[in-house]
Amino acid sequence: MTLRVLNPATEQPVAELEQAGDAETDRAVAAAKAAYPAWRAIAPSDRARLMRRLAGLVDDHREELALLETRNVGKPISDSRGEVGMVAEVFHYYAGAVDKHFGQTIPVAGGVDMTFREPLGVVGLIVPWNFPLNIASWKVGPALACGNTVVLKPAELTPMTAIRLAELALEAGIPKGVLNVVVGPGRVVGERLIHHPDVAKIGFTGSTEVGIGVMRGAAESIKRVTLELGGKSANIVFADADLERAAAAAPYAVFGNAGQDCCARSRILVQREVYDRFVAMLVAATRALRVGDPEDDATEMGPLVSAGHRTTVASFIESEPLFTGSTPDGPGFWFPCTLVEATNNDRIARDEVFGPVAALIPFTDEADAIGIANDTPYGLSGSIWTTNGARALRVARALETGVLSINSNSSVRVSTPFGGFKQSGFGRELGMNALDGYSEVKNVFMTTEG
Ligand code: NAD
Repeated sequence: MTLRVLNPATEQPVAELEQAGDAETDRAVAAAKAAYPAWRAIAPSDRARLMRRLAGLVDDHREELALLETRNVGKPISDSRGEVGMVAEVFHYYAGAVDKHFGQTIPVAGGVDMTFREPLGVVGLIVPWNFPLNIASWKVGPALACGNTVVLKPAELTPMTAIRLAELALEAGIPKGVLNVVVGPGRVVGERLIHHPDVAKIGFTGSTEVGIGVMRGAAESIKRVTLELGGKSANIVFADADLERAAAAAPYAVFGNAGQDCCARSRILVQREVYDRFVAMLVAATRALRVGDPEDDATEMGPLVSAGHRTTVASFIESEPLFTGSTPDGPGFWFPCTLVEATNNDRIARDEVFGPVAALIPFTDEADAIGIANDTPYGLSGSIWTTNGARALRVARALETGVLSINSNSSVRVSTPFGGFKQSGFGRELGMNALDGYSEVKNVFMTTEG
């Protein structure tokens, strides 16, 4: 079956691809299995060198990859450039980690006890469409560094940069079969990977709904699984915050990537005494956001990824918004920045919209803010805005979420752990923590007696 890949800003095709089915998925797993013994056995310094070369090639092709991503996802070119830059950094980081992630010797009686970090084997990596290359690299980097071989399944809507990455890996000298990309439907290729006896682990990023199925399927054979799922994060603005900075930053925290961001701070919690003042500043900052042609350097927000997704996002607007932004005329899956006043019980505050829609919720005091922020099945990210340092840390400790920023929107850095609490998933990506998810600890005891 042919897959037509569209540019969300023009609705024109960017490519037509042949979709893989069960047979092609099996072939990719077989290739990864065949490549595994040699990749596992390669000298660490050689593995690191090959990964460093891949990082260099990604950097050399930054503009090409960024344009490919922008035309496939509809995200602003300046965002894509930043993301491709991060991909190169991720491969550099994990190239450096190859010989720095090691076991221990443990004091025991009667001998020597040592631990080894062993690779898992063939790992299946299933990624979403919102940050296609970036999220792929967060998994491919640590997986390869630990000595695993990979079958990567990009989302059907956005396969272009994953295919290019596999080509660059070959160009870097990474042996054939070490990194395989299979383009096809989640229900076919994804399911096949989950149930394949030769796949040792599934690294999954996507919706909580599909994640539940991944975990259920993986349970059949006790397959390892890392789940990076949805979010409904809070942006908490206390009355003592630098309101100007908080209001200037808030639109980027929820409308960045057109809201198609698992870390989107889509619930904006504002202390009641500054609520009206803050909302007026937020509306002004949102109005100033540059929405338009993703290939224009100045653009800050592009369209949604697909027509179907736009219908889903629109279904969340059930009451008269406080503010609705403008969008370009003509083709493209545009959706305006939308601010809605809500309570935390409204659907718009409970479910992940995954579009440029923010719910504004007032709160009374610190305890109220913590209560509202934690009253969600998710726990991925969030921000706290206050000039009171003690409060900032008190609230940070009380929030049930994997990633937090104080007086900032930042969520991900190459060297720091990223992942969720509660139904946002488990396991950590990025930083040295990610290596734990792509290796097993083996304990060996050797007697010194006799
Ligand atoms: P999705 O769950 O629909 O799809 C994700 C991937 O899973 C795709 O490659 C898809 O083809 C595949 N898939 C779909 N059905 C499958 C099945 N039955 N078996 C196996 N694989 C299957 O998610 P999406 O719409 O592509 O992405 C949006 C979601 O991803 C949002 O919920 C968002 O919060 C989440 N996300 C989470 C993070 C994170 O790090 N926590 C990051 C980005 C996106």
